[in-house]
Amino acid sequence: MVGKDLCLFDIDGTLTLSRQRITPKMKTFLSELQKKVSVGLVGGSDLSHITEQMEDEQLVETFDYVFAQNGLLAYKQGKLIGKESILGHMGEEKLQPFINFCLEYMSKLRLPAKRGNFIEFRSGLINVCPVGRSCNQKEREEFAAYDKVHNIRESFIDALKKKFPDIGLTYVIGGQISFDCFPIGWDKTFCLKHIDKSAYPNIHFFGDRTFPGGNDYELFIHKDVIGHSVTSPEDTMQQDYKGFISAKDAYGKDRVTIYEYIGHVQESRCQIAQTKIENLPGKVNLPSFFINQLQNYYGIAVCSNTGNLSSSTKCYCLFHCSSVEKPMHGQCSIRKDSWCFYQRA
Ligand SMILES: [Mg+2]
Repeated sequence: MVGKDLCLFDIDGTLTLSRQRITPKMKTFLSELQKKVSVGLVGGSDLSHITEQMEDEQLVETFDYVFAQNGLLAYKQGKLIGKESILGHMGEEKLQPFINFCLEYMSKLRLPAKRGNFIEFRSGLINVCPVGRSCNQKEREEFAAYDKVHNIRESFIDALKKKFPDIGLTYVIGGQISFDCFPIGWDKTFCLKHIDKSAYPNIHFFGDRTFPGGNDYELFIHKDVIGHSVTSPEDTMQQDYKGFISAKDAYGKDRVTIYEYIGHVQESRCQIAQTKIENLPGKVNLPSFFINQLQNYYGIAVCSNTGNLSSSTKCYCLFHCSSVEKPMHGQCSIRKDSWCFYQRA
């Protein structure tokens, strides 16, 4: 049986300002939203940090899903449903040669300073830091400047890839002094392993770092998810929830078919738009936020126009991408009962 939609939210920059606590306004927004849809959190940090940020000791019971460390620790309605660690996943056999190589490589580096804590072993990743995480602020900045010129971290990663081509790790340079190593696929899409997709007509995801290289990107573009890009917690509260919530109950028993159709329309229309733009001389790719916006509008358009799907979806999207300064109703039909308000004769 198909139930309510599931809305997943990134935390930092989406529900709260970066590393800050949730506002009362956002708390109210989430509890109102929970009356209409299922809600889950997908954070990169550990559970204690998320609990603190969300100011809720009963966090795992409050929400339908809570995914800490991108889902390595997973809770569903208060019950622990998944726990994974890099040690459990890879085993000492594979890990130790890797760590040994890192230590050996770093022992040969000549840097402005070297302190302590060169390898930090966390449950979901290994953080490698050539200057050592116990360096002070000045040493940190010195390393960052040195790294910019000498590409210390980049060359280090190249060496690791060469030495361990099949180890199944991926590497991400973050911050000023270190890089992370974690198993391929252990990004935010990891949380989807714990979700029964057939239980939800749609799974939405809202994140702020949805551009390539951002930590929300993989989940944002995942085929099983409708991605929404936000710019701030304030923007998260302004998203078009009405559109997909109101659309949800419009089709009764045919709901699944309609939703499949919506997914198809969203995807194919956006692909067409992208191809057209790419073929224009001197044009770059459509920005992801625009594709995202288009997808939302196509989805809403299908839901609101059962009578004449093909022309109305096109029309709806153009209408919504139009502005007073730049009207785009050229493709909307001109007649008395035209779907397009502006073209009704
Ligand atoms: Mg974020």
